[in-house]
Amino acid sequence: MKSYDIIIIGGGAAGLNVAMELANSNLSICMIEKEEKNTDDRTWCFWEKGKGKFDHILFHSWNKINFYAKSVKEGLDLDGYTYKMIRSSDFYKYAHDILDQTSNIDRIQSEVRDIKEYNDRVEVYTNGTVFKADKVLNSVIFDKPDLNGYNHVIQHFGGWFIETENDVFNDEACTFMDFRIPQKNDTRFFYVLPCNKRQALVEIAVFSNAVQKMPTYDNWIKEYIDTYIKPGNYRIEEKEIGQIPMTDYPFHKESSPRHIRIGTAGGWVKSSSGYAFKRIMERAEIVAHNLLNNKNVTTNSTRFHRWMDSVMLKAITQNYVSGKDVFESMFSKRSASDIFQFLDEKNSLWKNVYMMYSAPILPFSKAALF
Ligand SMILES: Cc1cc2nc3c(=O)[nH]c(=O)nc-3n(C[C@H](O)[C@H](O)[C@H](O)COP(=O)(O)OP(=O)(O)OC[C@H]3O[C@@H](n4cnc5c(N)ncnc54)[C@H](O)[C@@H]3O)c2cc1C
Repeated sequence: MKSYDIIIIGGGAAGLNVAMELANSNLSICMIEKEEKNTDDRTWCFWEKGKGKFDHILFHSWNKINFYAKSVKEGLDLDGYTYKMIRSSDFYKYAHDILDQTSNIDRIQSEVRDIKEYNDRVEVYTNGTVFKADKVLNSVIFDKPDLNGYNHVIQHFGGWFIETENDVFNDEACTFMDFRIPQKNDTRFFYVLPCNKRQALVEIAVFSNAVQKMPTYDNWIKEYIDTYIKPGNYRIEEKEIGQIPMTDYPFHKESSPRHIRIGTAGGWVKSSSGYAFKRIMERAEIVAHNLLNNKNVTTNSTRFHRWMDSVMLKAITQNYVSGKDVFESMFSKRSASDIFQFLDEKNSLWKNVYMMYSAPILPFSKAALF
């Protein structure tokens, strides 16, 4: 039985971020990932002020954004923030290169079948091999949580990377949200991420439990391109499809001192927006720091922020208000940088109140009270 200080289960965004933070530490670590992880299975976007640790692998970044709903807001200044895009194959390669140069981390490609926790150790079972460790950092959800009694909805999306024959896009601004499309009793919007004048990712995101297959997204994307971009001849270079669970289910409560959930499995996805990548970067640093300093490793948003996310999620999923109206209201009253800072949970109390007053008050009060 191979023995380590830490076993990281899953080498996706969370597993790799934590592993990189622990590279060259005095902990012996093994990361078990079932796949090779060398493809573009994700495109991650996030906002950040100033320089970031992954700037050298960014696919593109923007200092201005567009927002469309009833009102049109183009070229909104981000006031020091940059909206950044990383393609997963670049991130995986960068992380693998770092980990493969360190002596304290073994990367193993295998599927974890079971995890058993004892008083003095955790055992991890893969096909034919058992690994033993002091602690497990687990980014895989093995048993679907019972979401009864919690607010939840799936953010599902499909996108095309397109290349146009002529110069069509302004690659200095990306479309953060475009709500001009019919809402069909849920929340849905497009985003357009131009990487140069002829190439862009055009993607629809829908908050609803009716997850679709690619042909349906294809129809919606084609209609959007024909209606709003009108690029003339273009070809589809690649397609992307995915889902993000948005829920206030308390994933962090499933952690124990030896078996710690991280990433989506640890509740690191912001339940009201589905954004996770930047939180994963930040929380990976906290987890690593706490592990190295023998502190409690589980990280979470504050009770207040979890409550605010729940209220917003409930207001939208119970149809007290549409996501379109929430974002329209916020973008018409507040700056993009205020909204980013609010979503980052970095505001002071009075600034949170100031931001809450920019959202539709009645439906939010109803969601908070009933
Ligand atoms: C398509 C897509 C696009 C997204 N875009 C954004 C975005 O733009 N911005 C943002 O902030 N967030 C985004 N997210 C949300 C979030 O950032 C990602 O889901 C992120 O990858 C979550 O990281 P994770 O490590 O928790 O999960 P993952 O990255 O999914 O990693 C989990 C890993 O565990 C492995 N695994 C699963 N089962 C086993 C097993 N039994 N044994 C061993 N390994 C196993 C998987 O192969 C996977 O590599 C996106 C999500 C998706 C799905």
